[in-house]
Amino acid sequence: MEFVHDSHRQRVRFASGAATQAVAEEAAALGGHRVMVIASDRERALAEQVTAGLPVTVWHNEVVMHVPTEVSERARSAAVAGEIDLIVSVGGGSTTGLAKAVALRDSPKAGTPILAVPTTYAGSEATNVWALTEGETKTTGVDDGVVPRTIVYDASLMMTLPLELSVASGLNALAHCIDSMWAPRTDPIDKALAGEGIRALASGLRAVVTDPQQLDGREQTLYGAYLGAVVFGSAGSGLHHKICHVLGGMFNLPHAETHAIVLPHVLAFNTPNAADAERRIAEAFRAAGGEPVGAQDGLRSLRADVDAPRALRDIGMPEAGIDKAVAAVLAAAPAGNPTPMNQENIHELLGGAWAGEEP
Ligand code: NAD
Repeated sequence: MEFVHDSHRQRVRFASGAATQAVAEEAAALGGHRVMVIASDRERALAEQVTAGLPVTVWHNEVVMHVPTEVSERARSAAVAGEIDLIVSVGGGSTTGLAKAVALRDSPKAGTPILAVPTTYAGSEATNVWALTEGETKTTGVDDGVVPRTIVYDASLMMTLPLELSVASGLNALAHCIDSMWAPRTDPIDKALAGEGIRALASGLRAVVTDPQQLDGREQTLYGAYLGAVVFGSAGSGLHHKICHVLGGMFNLPHAETHAIVLPHVLAFNTPNAADAERRIAEAFRAAGGEPVGAQDGLRSLRADVDAPRALRDIGMPEAGIDKAVAAVLAAAPAGNPTPMNQENIHELLGGAWAGEEP
């Protein structure tokens, strides 16, 4: 065995139903005397609840998916004007992404600590990956300075997340786990964590769908989502993430749903040439219950149970986009993908995902 595995220095606190107290304690531990709260209007009520009692000098609610540069500039200006020393982000991946933009190395507030309170399963809070979008071009990069110092996970904050979005977001987290089985920097630690993430997400998501207001399923899903984010950050983007990145940017598709739809097609594409990944994924689905015999059966059964979204055409991708995306996917795809890629097989993969075929 020869590998290098980096872990981030980050404090992770699970506190179901107790975010307000946990956030107050963690903000004080980080020395927050002038706090910037970032939360969109949709998460304002949750944010007010969990930041009650904090010394807030800036409330910032302009949150836009994929972090357009002008939006990040306005957030940075507000942070400077408020002389902030701590950012508390309450929301999904878009909100965490804006907090990262304020703390990014070229910002006047570079290195400001972030306390992240996630309200979806996207997982940005556990990675050093940042994104900024200039016009139609989304640029991503890594900077350890944007890794939130502390995460407070409170599963009760997920109760307001609509069921369809809960499912899509949870499957986005599942994609982090599955894609990390063959991503460029994957290692045995990533694969072990990813297997546990798949197990937790598969059982958690089924419980969420059975009863969205039940805490246990939300907790399991959140725990699996954290593991998925850790392995995604460590292993990097595999074929699945590259495809979703291309499609999301080209056709402005919703992030979580795109991942949820593309995932079974990439799994079917890669498993014939990835025996170890196939075995690990199948084992993880079996550990979550049910009777799958293989990785694809496990995912198929889960997707049926949670009524997963099926077709890219349903979320706004034009059919002509298939031809357009093939070259971009081939250019972006990682060289070491288990199944060699060419125009025909990527076209077939995208066509299946567009039409919603069962792979
Ligand atoms: P999002 O943050 O855009 O949230 C989706 C919608 O759900 C929004 O309308 C939001 O207001 C709403 N919402 C969020 N939490 C809610 C709650 N508890 N109750 C009710 N409504 C709620 O979407 P997302 O899927 O969480 O994040 C997607 C973004 O995150 C993308 O831009 C993606 O690229 C980024 N991302 C980055 C990383 C990384 O490592 N940098 C990882 C994953 C995702």
